[in-house]
Amino acid sequence: MKKIQSTIENAEAILVFAGAGMSADSNLTTYQDKEGFFTEYPLYKELKKSYVSMMSYNGVLDDPHFAWGYFAHQYGLYRDAVPHEGYSALLKLCQSKDDYFVVTTNVDGLFIKAGFPTQNVHEVHGSIHTLQCSVPCSKNTWHTKGLDVDIDYATMRALDSLPACPKCGHVARPNICMYGDTDESYIWEKSQKNADNFRAWRSDNKSKKLVIFEIGVGAEGLKRHMKQYEKEFFDVTLIRVNPVLHQENGIVHLAQGVKEAFVNLGKIATENN
Ligand SMILES: [Zn+2]
Repeated sequence: MKKIQSTIENAEAILVFAGAGMSADSNLTTYQDKEGFFTEYPLYKELKKSYVSMMSYNGVLDDPHFAWGYFAHQYGLYRDAVPHEGYSALLKLCQSKDDYFVVTTNVDGLFIKAGFPTQNVHEVHGSIHTLQCSVPCSKNTWHTKGLDVDIDYATMRALDSLPACPKCGHVARPNICMYGDTDESYIWEKSQKNADNFRAWRSDNKSKKLVIFEIGVGAEGLKRHMKQYEKEFFDVTLIRVNPVLHQENGIVHLAQGVKEAFVNLGKIATENN
């Protein structure tokens, strides 16, 4: 632990890769498997609707009120979620360095809510706090703010008129990259801008002493990405924060919950200031 602490203390920049486990301490569920989703939503089990089918592009087109029953419920959970102390501790730690950047597959927007500047966060799958046209008739995206859709929980269907595209009037959908989405159906320009920021950030920081945190990542894709980016830096230490053990050569593993780990590590930033 002492060694990890001094590595973090001496780091000049921090890069964060965060998955669903990052938000678990803010009471947002991570669906480890199919059954986890059905435990949360028994009705979908009855209706034979998996997480994948609820998060699919075709679902929005086939039955918008049913699709929005799920989106509006998720939106409500994410809107009301409070980023746990681990977020602010991590932000403080990041701010004590020359530079930092966050890459996350989470669509809950909690990094932004916790105060991370938007230009330092790349939400690779988009965000539930942004909407787009389901057609889509243009490349426009807009903020979900003020969204108010009532749900009939007996059927999981949205009751009201649904959020609509201001340009063509067709039903809107979250600007999240969903199952079945293509480059034509998902408006990726907003996310692309942050991908460009991330590329520039890597180039600016490649000679700095870097710590990469992999936090609460289950998905193999994000893990692979991290290994790929690692090669771009000269002096890098990989630290995995995950209560579930995934040991791997070349990665220091902190087997702790995210909140606990960063509240402890955050003390480094406080002691240094
Ligand atoms: Zn439209």
